[in-house]
Amino acid sequence: MINTLVEYKGGGYDGCFWEWNYAFIDKGQFYDIFSSGYAGCKTKEQLYARVLRNKELEENSDFFLYKIRKKSEENEIIHFIKNSSLANVYGVATWFYANFGLADENKREQQFKLIIECSICSEKNFIAEMKLEGMYGIGGIAVDHKLIVCYDCIEKNTCEKCHSFFEDRDNFKNDVCEYCQEETKENNE
Ligand SMILES: [Zn+2]
Ligand SMILES: [Zn+2]
Repeated sequence: MINTLVEYKGGGYDGCFWEWNYAFIDKGQFYDIFSSGYAGCKTKEQLYARVLRNKELEENSDFFLYKIRKKSEENEIIHFIKNSSLANVYGVATWFYANFGLADENKREQQFKLIIECSICSEKNFIAEMKLEGMYGIGGIAVDHKLIVCYDCIEKNTCEKCHSFFEDRDNFKNDVCEYCQEETKENNE
């Protein structure tokens, strides 16, 4: 297998709870991106034995395969991004960033197309160089985010006084959010 990100059901600490785990296989080389619980795979042998059992490697509800290197079809990466939670997409992108030296711009251009549109300005950015915002609960202790934001927008939409991020800055005045404006008004009265 080459250039294949494997997303599979790992986890399972108490036998009933699972979570998405990730591995990358390229030219036979196995990389454990994130594995947890008894169903997590630490080696290629475990991944083949537990997850990739069928010969044709047809995706099913237990695992998904994505080709994510530069040469791949762009829609494979879009598929991964749409199919997975934003927190997991971010985690995987950050792993590639750290382990494949992608902070180097020349290198990353030739390697992984792990880019996504900023939720605010729609400009495409490298996922690992953005920030997750808009946290919400998804049941139990799990949380996810509904926004992935470029640093330009983070800066623009963060209040200068309370340093909170806002999805839109319509009510900002001189880079200060509406709540801090209220406070200043009260203090001046
Ligand atoms: Zn932006
Ligand atoms: Zn504020």
